[in-house]
Amino acid sequence: MADFRTCFAKAKHIVVISGAGVSAESGVPTFRGAGGYWRTWQAQDLATPQAFARNPSQVWEFYHYRREVMLTKEPNPAHRAIAECEARLQGQGRRVMVITQNIDELHRRAGTRNLLEIHGTLFKTRCTSCGAVAENYKSPICPALLGKGCEEAGCGGLLRPHVVWFGENLDPAILEEVDRELAFCDLCLVVGTSSVVYPAAMFAPQVAARGVPVAEFNMESTPATDRFRYRDNRGGPPEAEGRRRCVLSRDFYLFV
Ligand SMILES: [Zn+2]
Repeated sequence: MADFRTCFAKAKHIVVISGAGVSAESGVPTFRGAGGYWRTWQAQDLATPQAFARNPSQVWEFYHYRREVMLTKEPNPAHRAIAECEARLQGQGRRVMVITQNIDELHRRAGTRNLLEIHGTLFKTRCTSCGAVAENYKSPICPALLGKGCEEAGCGGLLRPHVVWFGENLDPAILEEVDRELAFCDLCLVVGTSSVVYPAAMFAPQVAARGVPVAEFNMESTPATDRFRYRDNRGGPPEAEGRRRCVLSRDFYLFV
């Protein structure tokens, strides 16, 4: 712990890789795993280009629901700690960049400004004809399906959520930025994401391989844990879910 503090105090360019574990504490559903259903479907059934081609209105209903759910959710102490960390370090000429897999914008709402949303966001649309990306906070979004579509002049194409679906590639421009950040950072924090799934599976070990310290804050150890210099995987027994979640944000506060 003391060693980590010293390391943290010296770091000038910190990359935070965040995942679903950070949003879980805000009660954001992932529609994956046991009990994770919307009607009778899970995310991997509907969050695909094939599902959208087959039935765009059903996929939009799913995303409409997810957007509406987010109106009832708030950033939690982990989001706020990360945002405060950025603000505080900025005053010292130091930089924090958050690379998130989450599409719920809770980091943004907590005040994080240096943010790469590698899986897109629930609150942007992309035109399937001309590719135009637009912010969209309309509630409900569904009337957009009734013949409105893309608002670019003369387009009117069908809009889709600007999120990366199963089987789709990440935006190469964003990946380039991610690479730049990973190559440049002198400390990397992995928060609330198992290092078995892409992209943390690739990003953090890439940083560790340069000899740069990586600190992992997760509920459980993951296959990559042993490759990181610092780790905090103090999860309790599975039944103590609420308590375990609190550990994540409380410990994060301790560090920043
Ligand atoms: Zn268009």
